[in-house]
This record gives sequence, structure tokens and C-alpha cells, in this order.
Amino acid sequence: MAKKVRVRFAPSPTGGLHLGGVRTVLYNYLFARRNGGDFVLRIEDTDQTRFVPGAEEYIINCLKWCGLEPDEGPHVGGDYGPYRQSERKSLYRQYADRLVKSGHAYYAFDRPEELETMRERFKTPENPTPQYDRNVRLEMRNSCSLTLEETETLLEDGVPYVIRIRMPENETVTFTDMIRGEVSFNTGLVDDKVLLKADGMPTYHLAVVVDDYLMKITHAFRGEEWLPSAPVHVLLWKYLGWESEMPQWAHLPLILKPDGNGKLSKRDGDRLGFPVFAMNWTDPKTNDLTTGFRELGFLPEAFVNLLAMLGWNDGTPQELFTLTELTEKFSMDRVHKGGAKFDFEKAKWFNHEWIKKLPVEHYRPMVSAFLEAKGIAVGDEAYLDKVMTLVKDRCTLLTDFYEQSKFLFETPAQLDLDAVKPKWNADKKDFFEAAANEIQEATSWKAIDLETSFKALAAAKNIKPGEVLLPLRIMLVGGKFGPGVFDIAELIGKAETVKRINNALQQL
Ligand code: GLU
Repeated sequence: MAKKVRVRFAPSPTGGLHLGGVRTVLYNYLFARRNGGDFVLRIEDTDQTRFVPGAEEYIINCLKWCGLEPDEGPHVGGDYGPYRQSERKSLYRQYADRLVKSGHAYYAFDRPEELETMRERFKTPENPTPQYDRNVRLEMRNSCSLTLEETETLLEDGVPYVIRIRMPENETVTFTDMIRGEVSFNTGLVDDKVLLKADGMPTYHLAVVVDDYLMKITHAFRGEEWLPSAPVHVLLWKYLGWESEMPQWAHLPLILKPDGNGKLSKRDGDRLGFPVFAMNWTDPKTNDLTTGFRELGFLPEAFVNLLAMLGWNDGTPQELFTLTELTEKFSMDRVHKGGAKFDFEKAKWFNHEWIKKLPVEHYRPMVSAFLEAKGIAVGDEAYLDKVMTLVKDRCTLLTDFYEQSKFLFETPAQLDLDAVKPKWNADKKDFFEAAANEIQEATSWKAIDLETSFKALAAAKNIKPGEVLLPLRIMLVGGKFGPGVFDIAELIGKAETVKRINNALQQL
């Protein structure tokens, strides 16, 4: 029987969730759903110096907002918990000890200043930051260079130590990446990574292997930046005797800066004026706020869709996909090897398409919140839905609903009368006075009937409708924009329409 597919997203809770991270979540999620598998969230918090309070909760909320909820995780539990590595601390030592016993790892007693001395001593112009590797191993204070007795004495005396992997001299480690095909590394070029720290905490390298094994992970998808660590992980799987259980790897392509030059960073977003994090993130140390896609007015459907397309397509020109469609169509073999350039204009295009595509009830609460935050009293839902339906084609971001619809809730505070005045005359004044009276008496309050009678009045007064439509718009909206002017009148109602016309007439 084939093994049940199990995948994991394994973030370190160090800050806001970068869109590359959300894309990793998405590909994991799609793969799990497509294959009837489980999607696990594991918090990799073994590096306590980088731990940021609130980051875990933030990650969980981002996943919730995107609709990419894990089947197992610290917040929902599951059969393979705990799902926070810091709570699994006692599990890891036995595996580090096993590696020492089999000769694949060793105790290293070097103090920070000894490591510094090594770096100074072995520094060359070609190698400005020497690593702790096979070239320096025997020059350092560890169980490879010391005698057995010396090592035992240090251990008995309680001298602090770390456990490092002993990378083989000159072997080739090969594995098959689902995106890149066969990938090979020479072990001689990789340093002796720390596996267990002096405080007994594992490092990422040990913990990721142990946990992927214990949690029965079958496929491990992560960013391309982890590719250089893969040989260490492959060797650990082998040395721990779990080679046949090793997950299949896929290293996802980087998301690149808009010009294609390197990985997209939060700083690029700040510099170029677009978000890089899924949701607002406030750094608890500095209190710096970084705006997220959500708060900028992106729909989760659009955000997920645009992320899916950063590195994947289904082989057709189709670009708009629901999550269900993505689940049906996604496959790892169509993920590109090369990095995907991030294009904010394209991201906005996706959002615009999704605003048009979804029924307004679906995102009414979000629009309502944006409007209320701007001080608009949105009124009842039926009215808000009508407003949203009328203006949604004009909105690229959900926040655009404010500018595009505030005149449907409030009398405009200012009218762009400069656009009317140059061509204003007594005939027009007379026309609008008559129009206001006629509107007052109107028996039907439908846009189409309003338009008919407005145009008939213009014809009766020998005025081209084109000459009075712009003034009418400015009277009702305040400026030269917005949806059909009679649709606007229908929505704001008879009394308000008359009031706005009369108000403008007084200013002209
Ligand atoms: N904790 C690692 C990270 O942040 C996870 C890498 C992996 O998935 O193996 O990004």
C-alpha cells in the first residue's frame, strides 16, 4: 500500500510572513489536497536568539486568512505532536548521541574565542571566512583531535560542547529533487555543521531531519535557499538509518525582485512601495509596522492565485484559478526551475479580476471594515451590496471602494465646479432648476426612467444631453468620475439628488 502523503510547512517564528513563505505553504497545501494527504504546520523555534513573540500566532492567522489551514499544528493538535520544536527538545539528544557513537558526529569543545582565532589563522584572500570543516577539524579542540581520555575528562568536568556532523572527505551526495532532477554535492565543500548546541537544543539541521522522520513526512517542499543544506540532511537520513524513509525533496524557485536581480526582500518592498508580507506585521522590538497585502486591500483569493502563478502554470494561458481549481490542476512537475520575478502591477491585476469575479456578499465584510475605518456609516447590507455592485469594476484594491463610493454614502464636501463654470450659462441654470423640480415630482425612481425624462427635458429645452450630463455628475459625485450618473441618482434617492443639485446651483 502506498504511504499516505504527508507534507509540512516549517517556519521559524522570526517575523512577518514573506510572500515566498506563503507560496511554500500553498504548494504544500495543494500537493496534500491533490493527493489526499495531510498538511502539517511545524514551528521551528530552536534558535531562541531569533525567536520573536507573536510571530507564531501571526503565521497561523496568515494561513487562516489565505484559507490554507493545516490539518495538524500547534494550534490544532494531531497525532505527531508536539508541533513546536522547543517542546520536543528532549527528543533530539538521543539521535545526536547515536551519530557520535557511529562516528558520524563528534563533540567540539571550542570556545567562541577559539573559533575566532581559527578564522583569523586560516583566513586567505580566496577564503575570507574559513568554515569549521575537514581542513581545520584536527586543529580544533574536539573528539577527533583529542584522545579518548581527554574527551572523557572534558565531558566529566562538564565543559560545554556542541555536537558537529563529521562531513566525509570527498564523497558525492546525490538526490532527486522533484523540480531540479538529480542534484549532486561534493561533501568536501560542506562544513561540519553544529547539530546539537551547548544548551542541548538541536540546530535546525538535526531537528528538521528527526522531525520529518518522526512525523512521517513523505515530501519536503521548501525554498531554494535551503538547497545548500540538503547534502547535510541527506547524510543525516542515511547515518540515522532512515534512508528508505527519506522524503522526496522539492526546492522551490526564488521569488525575485521586479528587475530579476536577486531574491525579493522586505527592503525591496519598502523601497519600491509594495507589500512583501501577507498581513501587517509590527516588529515587537522596534514597533515598526510593515503593511501587508491584506491591509492594502487584497482579496485572499487573488493573493493565493497570484502566488500560485509565481513559478507554476497549468500549461495553458489560463491565469485565474480558484483554490479548488488549483487543487485539481497543481503538479510539482510544472513548477519552474528558474526564479519568478514579482510584478506588483500584475498582482494588482489579479486583485481587480477577483473583485469583479466574486459576488459582493463574499467580500462585503472586508469592504465594510475599510469604509468604516474611514468614517463612513455604511448603512444596511442591502444598500452596501448595491453600492459595491455598482462600483466594483472600478476598484483594483478593496481600499479603492472608499474613493469610488464615498459619494454614495455622504454628500460630497467639495464639488469640482471649475470643470463646470467655463461653460455655465443661464440656459443651463434654467435647465437644472427645471430638472430639480421634475425630479421632485418623479413617480418612478429607476435609473432608466430618470435618464429618459432628463434627456426629454434637455430636448425640450434645446440642450444637447452631453452638455448637462457632466454638470449633473459633478453635482452628484463631486468630480469627473464614477459609474453611470443615473445609477448614482437611483441609489442616493430622490431627496438627496434634489438636494445636491440645488446645493450646486447655489455655488454656480
Ligand atoms: N525552518 C526553516 C525555515 O524557515 C524550514 C526549512 C525547511 O522547510 O526545511 O525556513
